Order: sequence, then structure tokens, then C-alpha cells
Amino acid sequence: MNRILIIEDEEAIAELEKDYLELSGFEVALENTGDKGLKAALEGDCDLIILDLMLPGMDGFEICRRVRTKKDIPIIMVSAKKEDIDKIRGLGLGADDYMTKPFSPSELVARVKAHLARYERLVGSGVKANEIIEIRGIKIDKTARRVYVNGEEKAFTTKEFDLLTFLAENPNHVFSKEELFDKIWDMRHVTDHDIATVTVHIKKIREKIELNSSKPQYIETIWGVGYRFKV
Ligand code: CA
Repeated sequence: MNRILIIEDEEAIAELEKDYLELSGFEVALENTGDKGLKAALEGDCDLIILDLMLPGMDGFEICRRVRTKKDIPIIMVSAKKEDIDKIRGLGLGADDYMTKPFSPSELVARVKAHLARYERLVGSGVKANEIIEIRGIKIDKTARRVYVNGEEKAFTTKEFDLLTFLAENPNHVFSKEELFDKIWDMRHVTDHDIATVTVHIKKIREKIELNSSKPQYIETIWGVGYRFKV
């Protein structure tokens, strides 16, 4: 039997969700604060989490982020505010689905079933989940070699992708242009002209990921030294 964890502070909603899920054959645990919810999510053995955004104690954003570092079970995030749903979608926290309250309990049950089925297929087939790096609004899917900025996919060339991924995988570490060229281009007999390629690529990457390329929030220039991915 699949176990569902509901983290929701509004008792009436939590009970309604619980009733419907139990009627559909699920075992359901309820937590009504963020801190208890996180503990249950990490220590319990639930198969799916229904996570409210606004909670006393730790909020749903933080719970989602922390659970994702440890578990890849489906997470359905719910909120009463449509704007919040848009915001969390943009943050790329790793939730699998989002629902705006009020929703019909049967819709919730349908989505729970769909996500559990998908997850079981994934686990059962032995196919590994894609390797993903998420830093603030940027999501790099290393397996599919795709980049999303605030939920929107951006086209990257092979070298741009490799360079961004390398920097993002080594955050807060300053690399010189020479080091970056050496890592990404793998060429002998490097000239100054080759090194300048790094600058050109950084500029192109910034145009895709930064809100304002002249005030970069992700890839910083360290004058006289090189570049650093800031987290
Ligand atoms: Ca709430």
C-alpha cells in the first residue's frame, strides 16, 4: 500500500485530502507544521508528499528543497495563491506538480495516482533520474543537456553548456580563463586568441541566464583573475 504524507496546517483541508486518499486505498499521515513535516518526510517512509506552501515554522519552499537533497519521491506542492505557484515553478525547487487551492479532492487523487505510477515505472525500470543541478532560478539537466532559466528553456551550444555546467558544479571557486579553456576545450598549443574564446562564451552565457548582463548575479568577473559562479 502506498503511503502519502500530507503537510498542511489547515485542518479542514488536510482532513478532506486524507479522507479521499484513504477511500482510494492509500495510507495517509498528517503533519500540521513545517518542522514536524520535514522530520516525517526525511525519517518516515512515505511514497509521495503533498506539501502546502505556507506553514507555521519552516515553509514549503524550504521543505521541498531539503527533501530533494535526500529523496526523489514525488512532491505535489499546493498553495492558495496562484502567484506563489508561478513563483515556485520558477524557482525550480524540484517539485513534481503544483496545485492551486481550492482544488477538487478527486483531481488530487488522480494526480497522486499518476505521479506514483510514473515514479514506480522510473524506479522499476532501473532508469536513473536525470542528473540535475539547480542553483536559484537555473536548472541544468546534465543528462538531457538542457538549461532552464526561471522555468524557460534556453538554447546553449555544446561549449557554452560545458562551461556553464563546469562553473555551476564548482561554485564559489575562481577559475582563470586559461584554466577554463584547458578544462572545456582540451586543445594543445593554446594561443591568446583561444583564451579570448572563454570571454566570448561567458558573455553569451550571461545573455541567456542573467537578468542584466552588466550586473551578473550568477557568473561574476573577478578582475585580473577570472570567473566565479556565485551561490
Ligand atoms: Ca497553509
